[in-house]
Amino acid sequence: MASFELVSGAPASPVILHVPHSSRHIPADVRAGIVLDDAALERELDHITDSHTAEIAEAAADLAGLTPWRFVNRASRLVVDPERFTDDREEMTAVGMGAVYTRTTHREILRPDGTDPEPLIERYFRPYARAMTEAVAGRLAVTGRAVIVDVHSYPTEPLPYELHGEGPRPPVCLGTDGFHTSPELLAAAREAFAPCGETGLDSPFSGTYVPLDLYGKRADVGALMVEIRRDTYMTEPGGPAGPGLPRLAESLASLVDAVSG
Ligand SMILES: [Zn+2]
Repeated sequence: MASFELVSGAPASPVILHVPHSSRHIPADVRAGIVLDDAALERELDHITDSHTAEIAEAAADLAGLTPWRFVNRASRLVVDPERFTDDREEMTAVGMGAVYTRTTHREILRPDGTDPEPLIERYFRPYARAMTEAVAGRLAVTGRAVIVDVHSYPTEPLPYELHGEGPRPPVCLGTDGFHTSPELLAAAREAFAPCGETGLDSPFSGTYVPLDLYGKRADVGALMVEIRRDTYMTEPGGPAGPGLPRLAESLASLVDAVSG
């Protein structure tokens, strides 16, 4: 079974809601390579998982006028993080959080030093990247363009692993890319999320995900990251969703509607 899922939307929709960090699932053979005991692993998953973001994306898809496509990681980011670079470009490698993490959010050991990332990259990272590339290519082929909206959440208080944790932490942080995030896309997001409170730009997390084969090459692939501060919709860390979730789903649906036409 694949560790990710492409949920079809309307054929005419150019939008893909990408949800890379919502799952806590770790296959047993991957679990065996993690040194934390079960209680510590649950605590780490509470901190690192973008809990309930798959539900936010699903609710938004149901509300949208033209149903967007959804690409959802069904495995935890502790298996592989599909949004990291696997080469020297990845600044998170410095804190043991490249594509295959070796450190926790609190800078403790997750996997032993010297762990070879390649088997997990081959088994999980590359198939994911290929499938996401194909999903985007599918939208391009049918609609002539694609819009990737990357759906994340982030903790209200900075975690020790964060490299840019000193910056502003607004209710909604919009992550942008100089090539793929048009001013129109950004303006649509600011308007759509205005009911959820202040929106900020690229702090505390910046950039947005585009499959590498298309990154910096195809201007008809739009992309924007939405990072939702967790106190706006859930009990932290790792707790249940609260009454803020439907409002965020409505805002995300508004953004989908604004960029689908
Ligand atoms: Zn995330």
